[in-house]
Amino acid sequence: MQNSVVVIGGGPAGLMAAEVISLRGGRVDVYDSMPSLGRKFLMAGKSGLNITHSEPFEKFVARYGKRRTQIEPMLKQFGPEELCQWVQGLGIETFVGTSGRVFPVGMRASPLLRAWLRRLRDSGVIFHLRHKWTGQIDSGGNNSILLRFESPDGEKIVQADAVLLALGGGSWSRLGSDGAWVPWLEKRGAQVEPLKPSNCGFDVDWSPHFRERFDGYPIKSVVLSFGSFRQQGEFIVTKEGVEGSLIYAASALLRDEIDSRGQAALALDLSPARSHEWLAERLSKPRGSRTMSSHLEKTVGIKGVKAGLLHEFVSKEDFASADKLAFFIKNLPVPLIRTRPIDEAISSAGGVKFESLDEHLMLRSMPGVFCAGEMLDWEAPTGGYLLTACFASGFVAGQGIVQWLDA
Ligand SMILES: Cc1cc2nc3c(=O)[nH]c(=O)nc-3n(C[C@H](O)[C@H](O)[C@H](O)COP(=O)(O)OP(=O)(O)OC[C@H]3O[C@@H](n4cnc5c(N)ncnc54)[C@H](O)[C@@H]3O)c2cc1C
Repeated sequence: MQNSVVVIGGGPAGLMAAEVISLRGGRVDVYDSMPSLGRKFLMAGKSGLNITHSEPFEKFVARYGKRRTQIEPMLKQFGPEELCQWVQGLGIETFVGTSGRVFPVGMRASPLLRAWLRRLRDSGVIFHLRHKWTGQIDSGGNNSILLRFESPDGEKIVQADAVLLALGGGSWSRLGSDGAWVPWLEKRGAQVEPLKPSNCGFDVDWSPHFRERFDGYPIKSVVLSFGSFRQQGEFIVTKEGVEGSLIYAASALLRDEIDSRGQAALALDLSPARSHEWLAERLSKPRGSRTMSSHLEKTVGIKGVKAGLLHEFVSKEDFASADKLAFFIKNLPVPLIRTRPIDEAISSAGGVKFESLDEHLMLRSMPGVFCAGEMLDWEAPTGGYLLTACFASGFVAGQGIVQWLDA
């Protein structure tokens, strides 16, 4: 194979495709608008690079919800196990954390990315930084494709035999993936589901007192329920609302509810280890001259931000009834008014619809142009599922390009 392939987007998906193609002897040029590669990947490593998850495959694939059908065949080609072996092949061991999440030893992304880029360079992949694709893509005759880039040296026109678009989703645009490609691909006949925040926070209409007093406070070991979703964990109160791992885990359901009904209310169990009866019995003890806050703390151990939440959402009358207060400690409704902006989300939902792609991730409306990574229409919770599917789709698209060019 001696054709020339252009990969646009130097994140995990684009780089994985570049590796697959270069290993088969193809010439690969990677273009990225940023001054360095893999910025979001590096950001993912800031709080511990959760590369994948060790749970059984059946449970793993279920994390992709409605898109399981499309993602599962990719994970069968390059799934969590292959990904761990691949990381080890770069000289970096992996380990399984207590939650079953898998991390590279050292937790950071930078040693992994450095080793990977070195290996890609050694195998002949050429990187072109500060090259922004502007959406221009035309036929160049003889089955070739012409692309236009803005670069520090002005406009550049590049010819390729096949193209991989791995432009990322629509969150954290300052790291490079800004979702600007959506109208460009729509104009070329691709169907694109609008990008939405995923693994995101929500706005809550806090009272000025609560907002002032509890901004930045963690709420630990509570159970969040919403419909069939029920999970114990923690989250953070922000000036605007709520964010953090437990909120992200339920965020797709909460977002869809807000989209269809205009609002959503999650329910919190502030005292998961205690029963309603235990709480009601303790709360009904005489309060004497104690304030309500001190009564709550002395009898059932609820204080600080958890007590603040109760004051925020429970009426004075209900507070006065031990039984009702116990009920709200176990089922406190927290109304959410909207998602935080997509730019703040960990990832985005929506993207190029699978109906517009063949099984090798080639756009049906643009033969020779493939797509991979977060720009495809799928979403998953945090836990390593995002990166795993980005790598897997890059792998599948890379193989698809090799086959396309061979044919
Ligand atoms: C704070 C944070 C923490 C995260 N933590 C984790 C985690 O622990 N585990 C996990 O699984 N996932 C995590 N993620 C998600 C994960 O990082 C992304 O899903 C993944 O990076 C997406 O890979 P990608 O290759 O599809 O796109 P990206 O990594 O977004 O790369 C796309 C590339 O395309 C380039 N590009 C875009 N448009 C153009 C253009 N027009 N011209 C040229 N270049 C362009 C961009 O500059 C960018 O380099 C995290 C995300 C964030 C924001």
